[in-house]
Amino acid sequence: MSEFDYDKLLDRARKNIPQEISGDARWKLPEPEVLIEGQQTIIRNFSDITDMMDRDANHVYHFLQNELGTSGSREEHRVLLKGRIPPKRIKEKLGNYVRTYILCDQCNAPDTRFLKEDRTTLLKCQACGATRPVKM
Ligand SMILES: [Zn+2]
Repeated sequence: MSEFDYDKLLDRARKNIPQEISGDARWKLPEPEVLIEGQQTIIRNFSDITDMMDRDANHVYHFLQNELGTSGSREEHRVLLKGRIPPKRIKEKLGNYVRTYILCDQCNAPDTRFLKEDRTTLLKCQACGATRPVKM
C-alpha cells in the first residue's frame, strides 16, 4: 500500500473499539505538527503523539528514522529530523507504526500491550485477547 490514509485508519480504529473501553472515543492521534526549517524537519508535538499511542517514545522515534532513512535528535517534546520531509510522509509513517505496533489485527482496537515471550515479542489485545507476533 503506497498511499496511506491516516484519518481513515484512525476512523476505522475508533469504530471498532468495543463499547466497554470506548469511553476511549478519545483515541485519536493528534495531527503531527510538522515544521520544515532550513534543512531539518521538526515534529513539534511528538510527545503528544507518543503519549496518545502509549508507546515508548524512543521506539517510535527509531522507527521513524529507519522508515524515513534519516537521522535526527529527540528532545523532551519534539523531534528534529535531518532533511526536508513532507508532512504527508510523516503521517504515513506514523500510520505504519500504528498498524504495525498498536492496532489489533483481529478487532482493530488500539488497546494493546507488548508481551515478551522467550525471544519473541507479541502484541496482546486488551479488548479481545488476540495476540500476534511483532518484529521489534
Ligand atoms: Zn483485539
